[in-house]
Amino acid sequence: MPGRKFSPELQDQVRQRANYLCEYCHTSEKWQYVQFTIDHVIPIKQGGSESLENLALACFHCNRYKSNRQAAIDPETQQMTDLFNPRSQAWADHFIWSADKLTILGQSATGRATIDVLKLNRERIQLIREADLAVNRHPPKDDPVIDRIS
Ligand SMILES: [Zn+2]
Repeated sequence: MPGRKFSPELQDQVRQRANYLCEYCHTSEKWQYVQFTIDHVIPIKQGGSESLENLALACFHCNRYKSNRQAAIDPETQQMTDLFNPRSQAWADHFIWSADKLTILGQSATGRATIDVLKLNRERIQLIREADLAVNRHPPKDDPVIDRIS
């Protein structure tokens, strides 16, 4: 949320640890006009802390869609499931890029629920991915990409 009083040092630590990626949609902050926000993985009202262990770098949209949620419905099973937690889980265990690298695919119930609620494949972000792909700055180099159907 805008207007939080994180120290500049703490914000730098969050940014560097995230490699300047939104820790949900993996958009790079480097090519954006506005800085990303600092997300409380566990909301303060639900007992989350203001310390580094509970913070994540998140783009404005992911932060807004996540809001105070920690869980959501997995669209495949209709079961309530925890949202992705970038502090305790690895992105690559729950998400993978489609073969054309424009769409994030869920690898787990958590992945699918997070894609759904945070709208990780919203149209505008896919246009940004397409443009970034054309100049070789997408996807982030360590991210998994699904194998083409062999
Ligand atoms: Zn994002």
